[in-house]
Amino acid sequence: MKETGWKKTAGNGSDGKRTEGKKSFGRGEKTTGFSKNSAKVGVNGEKQGKSARKVSEVEDKWGTHGDRKRNVGEKGGQKTVRGGQRGKTKCPIYRECGGCQYLHLTYDQQLKEKQKRMEELLGGVCPVRPIIGMEEPYHYRNKVHAVFGLDRKNNPISGIYKEGTHRILPVDSCLIEDQKADEIIVTIRSMLRSFKIRVFDEDTGYGLLRHVFIRGGFTTGEILVVLVTASPVFPSKNNFVKALREKHPEITTIVQNINGDKEHVLYGKGYIEDVLCGLRFRISSRSFYQINSAQTEKLYAKAIELAELTGNETVLDAYCGIGTIGLIASKHAGKVIGVELNQDAVRDAVQNAKKNGITNAQFFCNDAGRFMSHMAARGESADVVFMDPPRSGSTEEFIDAVALMQPKRVVYISCGPDTLARDLRMFAKHGYKAKEAWPVDLFGWTEHVETVVLLSQ
Ligand code: SAH
Repeated sequence: MKETGWKKTAGNGSDGKRTEGKKSFGRGEKTTGFSKNSAKVGVNGEKQGKSARKVSEVEDKWGTHGDRKRNVGEKGGQKTVRGGQRGKTKCPIYRECGGCQYLHLTYDQQLKEKQKRMEELLGGVCPVRPIIGMEEPYHYRNKVHAVFGLDRKNNPISGIYKEGTHRILPVDSCLIEDQKADEIIVTIRSMLRSFKIRVFDEDTGYGLLRHVFIRGGFTTGEILVVLVTASPVFPSKNNFVKALREKHPEITTIVQNINGDKEHVLYGKGYIEDVLCGLRFRISSRSFYQINSAQTEKLYAKAIELAELTGNETVLDAYCGIGTIGLIASKHAGKVIGVELNQDAVRDAVQNAKKNGITNAQFFCNDAGRFMSHMAARGESADVVFMDPPRSGSTEEFIDAVALMQPKRVVYISCGPDTLARDLRMFAKHGYKAKEAWPVDLFGWTEHVETVVLLSQ
């Protein structure tokens, strides 16, 4: 996704290619897009501070795997900061936010740093191939959260929680988030007073609007806005939705979510669609979707290349989300079986198979470990297993079951290097060796690294 309101950025990707002047937000058919600030969450969804915990409960409903910490404000506290030079702090809330641990480095330096860390972690285990970097390392986040609150003068503010506190750091835009989403959040904030919408006050329990969550389609430019409210009663909602759409006609759907739970579609179809690796995917608000679409295409392409499918294999897509990896692999495979715990995501995956005319894929809603151990107990097998667990990694139950099913290859996609290393050791006990690891930079300026590892016996 990416957007209008492009800002010029000087990128220097791992390939050394200058990308100066490239607009951010997607490649797309359309040039809508978005980006914005976010509530801060710890690496496993745990949050720092009291309110942080509340946020993470709500955020977790949207499956924020893989991208937990983040954020740089380009405009902090509703004040603007210019593009900035490499190696200098480009963000006014760099320290307080804590999301971009590598912002003091150049992009190339941070890639080297990530490479080094992965080599330290996996060096004795398997070769670590050169990290696949971004061509455009700014404004890549297709998903943005803003927490809403009040300043001392009772004016509504939006931003992120200051690390380890309950305090909201006002943020109007962020170097890594999509710019259109930033703009929409600022617009929403500016509309609150005239619509008499009070922001939720965690101390008193009064008020309505808690956060706003925005997600955009990289290729399609479709935009979902989720208004997270403290109560189902939203008095001015029709007029508010109408006015917001007038200001941002690029918004394709608006959903009200009550405290991270129930949802009402206020406008549009309630989900967005996006095109990734040539397939069209529907993504519901609470389904997981990788936050950096350009890099995700490279990640999935590498995963599928490593699987060396010939067209006949039975492929398992474990922790499959909306079915992306399995469906992209399906044309190179005999059949695909996907398993995923989140019901909304499974529903999306089933629809996504239909939408793309794919008839050799089935999806199941279950715990991946339980599902695999039942399959193994029934004597079923798979030729290739793709696994893409959350940052907490996989389980012994899952890995034991994979070993019983004896696939030729396991392709492990991970956003948690430490749990990856742990799980690779478990696989090694069963005779599955890691053959090669490919780090992919999905989370520029943050310390996070995505890695795809090929294992075989
Ligand atoms: N492969 C997908 C999703 C990866 S994110 C993609 O690339 O988009 C990890 C997924 O694992 C999330 O969708 C999450 O809901 C799911 N998940 C978490 N714990 C799980 C479990 N125990 N069993 C099955 N799925 C699980």
